[in-house]
Amino acid sequence: MNQNFDEKCKSRGLSITVQRQKVYEVLMEDKSHPTVDSVYLAVCKAIPTISRATVYRTLETLADEGLIQRVLHPGSSARYDGNPAPHNHLVCTVCGKTEDCMDSSLNALPCPDRSSTGFTISECEITYRGVCPECQRKA
Ligand SMILES: [Zn+2]
Ligand SMILES: [Zn+2]
Repeated sequence: MNQNFDEKCKSRGLSITVQRQKVYEVLMEDKSHPTVDSVYLAVCKAIPTISRATVYRTLETLADEGLIQRVLHPGSSARYDGNPAPHNHLVCTVCGKTEDCMDSSLNALPCPDRSSTGFTISECEITYRGVCPECQRKA
């Protein structure tokens, strides 16, 4: 897995650092779309001296390079996704929990016709907002 990461870094001219390797590893293991803070806590277990700012910068660099993706929802803090391919999400408006929503019917949705405006569409992501089962139970 890390060999794969090393190759991806090399092909992008990114230097391979222990911090980058660890941050990437955490994201590969944590499928919950963690925030900077949760990635930081997990990376700290392996690299206790790392700062939150370094973890943040590392996440941003990896996202800019397309190795991971930033998941931004208005009103909640940024989350990071180890899967850089466009895909759909379910977001809980109470706790911010973010889950992948893989449903083949969504991939069959036609793109709107923008030929009159000249806008070309390259990809599409859908975010469904609602309340997760845990928050429903608490309510
Ligand atoms: Zn929730
Ligand atoms: Zn995702």
